[in-house]
Amino acid sequence: MKTVAVLGGGIGGLATAYYLSKSPQVAKVILLESSGRYGGWLWSTQRSDGAVFEHGPRGIRPAGAVGLNTLNLVQDIGLENEILPVPYSHNASKNRYLYVNEKLHKMPSGLWGALQTVSPFSRPIIHSIAKEILVKKGKEDDESIHSFVSRRLGKELADIAIDSLCRGVFAGDCRRLSVRSCFPPLYRAEQSRGSIVLGMLLGSGGSRRGAVRPGALAKRSQEESWAQWSLLRGMGSLPEGLADWLQQSGKAQLCSEAAVKEMHLSSSGWEIQTDGGTISADHVISALPADALASALPPALAPLSKQAQEISYVTVAVVNLEYQGAILPVEGFGHLIPSTENKGVLGVVYDSVPFPQHNSPKGVTTRLTVMMGGAWFQEVFGSPDTVSEESLLAVATQAVRAHLGAGYPPSWSKVALQKNCIPQYYLGHWKRVESMRRYVAEKNLPLSLVGSSYDGVSVNDVINSGRVAVEQLLGPTP
Ligand SMILES: Cc1cc2nc3c(=O)[nH]c(=O)nc-3n(C[C@H](O)[C@H](O)[C@H](O)COP(=O)(O)OP(=O)(O)OC[C@H]3O[C@@H](n4cnc5c(N)ncnc54)[C@H](O)[C@@H]3O)c2cc1C
Repeated sequence: MKTVAVLGGGIGGLATAYYLSKSPQVAKVILLESSGRYGGWLWSTQRSDGAVFEHGPRGIRPAGAVGLNTLNLVQDIGLENEILPVPYSHNASKNRYLYVNEKLHKMPSGLWGALQTVSPFSRPIIHSIAKEILVKKGKEDDESIHSFVSRRLGKELADIAIDSLCRGVFAGDCRRLSVRSCFPPLYRAEQSRGSIVLGMLLGSGGSRRGAVRPGALAKRSQEESWAQWSLLRGMGSLPEGLADWLQQSGKAQLCSEAAVKEMHLSSSGWEIQTDGGTISADHVISALPADALASALPPALAPLSKQAQEISYVTVAVVNLEYQGAILPVEGFGHLIPSTENKGVLGVVYDSVPFPQHNSPKGVTTRLTVMMGGAWFQEVFGSPDTVSEESLLAVATQAVRAHLGAGYPPSWSKVALQKNCIPQYYLGHWKRVESMRRYVAEKNLPLSLVGSSYDGVSVNDVINSGRVAVEQLLGPTP
């Protein structure tokens, strides 16, 4: 493998370039990014007084093989001294809220929480858990998350808790999202053990993610029981660190403002046309959003483009707010809002609680992020192309006033309209992705597909998709 081109300089493309650069089998890695900044949705503002505001991901979970894998990468690129860990014992890990019937409700946690009737639920959660073991296995090869959870744990949990959770994680509608693609461990547990509870207790078989040997930082996360982590200068410093590492590796050539326009198969691989000229590569790893890849593929590969185009995305308005003083009535991670309560406002993250290090050093302040829109964007706010920042800010500040009792306006705010930022794994997503990869294999195309469009939307999943693709191409990375 002489030259590998990586398309897209989000965290997926950067991580892929990192794993490629480590392989002695690759002579050169060329990364092509259309914008002037690397990192895609990982984007932070560090204000001149030091306060940090996240416009994309704000906390990464260290759990599982994919979580350990990310921490290994963070250590390897020299960012371990910037880690801000949040342990399970922290209030931000223990306290998560739902806003239902115009009130905040603490989600039940731990055994004691499961044994009690906790508002807004009408029965102790333990009832649903105990009955779940007896529910028959579903017969479909895919099912919506709402239908799966209603069937196994009851409609109330699906309507309130799962509806809210899917809005928090995917900005999506649990009645349309696929359980098999969005929560593979739940689907596998039912398939292999006939029950989610038994699957969690006994294990439910492997995924394509593979084992990861934890390095010193990953081991520390286990010893100290981290629930999530961020970085001192914000999540944006992860892609910055990766880009610096790649530039110093001597093997990678990073090209920004190099939008991929067209790709054509050649006798030795691909010819890729970008804004800045034509590039030849033996193999291409696409970390582009699937629709961007579809636009660049040659007409001869129309069946692949068509399937890539069928993957949908939603738009999220991310509104960062800073208030003077301590305004929160409760201490926790934040609150989610089920779609029956308010379609437009998905949830509010209390950023100051898990990461007080990101607050302004001048006086006491509260940083919040209001997430809005997602699968309901068009219905509530109209077209993302015409909606005004002022109207989005007004909805966000009104939500904070109503939900948290903020008696005065924020002293600082920023509205980021993240268009088409989260892919939606609707029913049958797994089949589409399998069929796309089968097409690539049958045609023997020198092409791999990574990134959030296919195998999971979390930062960990996306980084791991780069690792898996490189290992499938070249064997285990050193
Ligand atoms: C608001 C928000 C909050 C989130 N919160 C969390 C969280 O708390 N925890 C978590 O784990 N995950 C979170 N996520 C999910 C996670 O951030 C994303 O799934 C992940 O960053 C996607 O990375 P990617 O590299 O696959 O895609 P992208 O970030 O979309 O990267 C694709 C890159 O390709 C470039 N590109 C597009 N077209 C072209 C072209 N033609 N030529 C060249 N380049 C092109 C783009 O500019 C972009 O840089 C969040 C996402 C959002 C939007």
